[in-house]
Amino acid sequence: MKNKILVTGGAGYIGTHTCIALHEAGYDIVIYDNLSNSSCAAIKRVSTLIGQPLEFIEGDIRDAETLRQAFVDHQFFGVIHFSGLKAVGESVTKPLLYYNNNVSGTITLLEVMRQYNVKNLIFSSSATVYGDPKFLPIDESSSRSCTNPYGQSKLIVEYILEDLALSDDSWNLIALRYFNPVGAHPSGQIGEDPNDIPNNLMPYISQVAVGKLEKLSIFGNDYPTVDGTGVRDFIHVTDLAQGHVAALNYLQQQVDLQRSNSKRSSSKSSSVGFLPINLGTGKGTSVLELVSAFSSISGQAIPYQFTSRRVGDIASCYASSDKAKNVLGWEAKLSITEMCQDTWRWQSINPTGYD
Ligand code: NAD
Ligand code: UDP
Repeated sequence: MKNKILVTGGAGYIGTHTCIALHEAGYDIVIYDNLSNSSCAAIKRVSTLIGQPLEFIEGDIRDAETLRQAFVDHQFFGVIHFSGLKAVGESVTKPLLYYNNNVSGTITLLEVMRQYNVKNLIFSSSATVYGDPKFLPIDESSSRSCTNPYGQSKLIVEYILEDLALSDDSWNLIALRYFNPVGAHPSGQIGEDPNDIPNNLMPYISQVAVGKLEKLSIFGNDYPTVDGTGVRDFIHVTDLAQGHVAALNYLQQQVDLQRSNSKRSSSKSSSVGFLPINLGTGKGTSVLELVSAFSSISGQAIPYQFTSRRVGDIASCYASSDKAKNVLGWEAKLSITEMCQDTWRWQSINPTGYD
């Protein structure tokens, strides 16, 4: 029997790509999303791509009743928990909204999971939990600190997961710390569809290229980097999706091992507990390098101007991806070229996103 996975936030940018990868890997999926930052159109496109209808529950993770009903109706092996709000700037002006959605929502989800004895979770964390890193590449033992409510909400959830694992050793909890997800499905049918003017670099560049925005502001050209602009570890969203499949396969192996050990002997084998893992490529690319790659791949000029640094930004951030490779057997395969090609295909086929 195929294992069934509840995918909270599965209608969103990373969730849709991961649903396709999960389906291809043989998992059954149920999407749970309140559509606050996504649409049914995205789910329909995923259904078309996988050639079958998807189970979708429209619900909020803070709504325990609707969540419970999902666990009554389905026998889940585990949960991939994408749902949450993600705009750093908005989190500064609406901290209660962010803590309520991202922290309280996760607590409600964990309580319902415990009630139905589903104790396998993959949580969407972020490289933002590392704050301004003391060394590069950043590995999972780096110290954690955050400067805005969005980042704090990720960090608080990580602390909650750590405490939960300490309190009860039957939980298997993986926090995947994403670096900078970009790109789109190679079909051009699904991709990132920001509601407003994009906050992130890649969607901003692609909207300039397609003529929706006039010019890019590059936030600072005086960083101690290769060309003075910020350096980030951009990772193709389909590689990221495969990282979730690898994490789920790992959880499944561990749970199988725990079950067979407990049948064979009276001693319990240890659970995964709380396991943080970076998902990045290990390579840094500067803002100007990305602009130049996108411009040559799209054949479009990307006008830009240098402006002052954005508050809270750091100079450079890229991952050590050794742990993902050693523990999950996963590594990113796609280059900046594919990231730009796929973003451009999505943007030019869907200049207004899913509308
Ligand atoms: P997204 O906004 O596209 O997807 C999130 C989904 O969650 C949306 O479909 C939204 O409708 C849903 N959602 C939000 N609040 C909900 C709630 N209370 N109940 C049910 N559904 C809810 O974002 P994404 O880029 O796909 O990010 C997915 C996760 O990864 C988020 O938790 C985000 O913080 C994290 N993350 C994203 C990035 C990035 O750059 N995209 C980087 C690091 C971490
Ligand atoms: N950036 C920029 N102009 C923009 C958006 C982002 O110059 O309109 C820069 C930003 O300063 C950072 C890099 O691009 O150096 C990546 O920013 P993004 O918001 O995409 O990701 P994050 O800050 O979360 O790493």
